[in-house]
Amino acid sequence: MSVLPKSVENVINEFSRLPGVGPKSASRMTYHYLRSSKLDATKLANALLAMEDEVMNCKKCFNVSDKEVCDICSSKLRKQDKLCVVEEPLDVVAFENSGIFDGLYFVLGGVISPAEGIGEEEIRFKELKARVGELLESCDSLEVIVATNPSLEGEATASYIIDLFKSELKDEKIKITRLAMGLPTGADLEYADRLTLKRALEGRRGI
Ligand SMILES: [Zn+2]
Repeated sequence: MSVLPKSVENVINEFSRLPGVGPKSASRMTYHYLRSSKLDATKLANALLAMEDEVMNCKKCFNVSDKEVCDICSSKLRKQDKLCVVEEPLDVVAFENSGIFDGLYFVLGGVISPAEGIGEEEIRFKELKARVGELLESCDSLEVIVATNPSLEGEATASYIIDLFKSELKDEKIKITRLAMGLPTGADLEYADRLTLKRALEGRRGI
């Protein structure tokens, strides 16, 4: 027999699935909602449901958006000959908050990670290839900046991208660059401060 009602256990379990949340924090969060007014729980539930309803992936960059084509992809002010390839939507937020990049983005949706069973078919490589092709129709040369995290998986993914564009590289239609190593190995791009990110972007090198 469990000490806690099933409904309370369910909420603890759901919170424990969040990144960085252990069982203790999950319990604390659950008790917070148990103690607070019913309205608080309703607000949280409604916010989550509204997010699920309203948010989609931009069909060009695959960042989260409430429009089919996000504001960045549809902006005339963004440089169309620079494409920054990142792992997750939060990486776009890190670049945008730092205000150091004026090109376009592409969100891969992860990195190749054999340890976690994530293969190349689960990453948006096909979509990246299509997006680069589309951009090349309107510009003579394109710089693809690979801004995956400086981890083993991030490096493996960068190598895969180079392979993916072998023929475009040979024809010198595109140039592939990688962020400079101002970022410590194993660092998470989304947590990098503005200066570190700026140095990493400015010091990017061809690969
Ligand atoms: Zn977009």
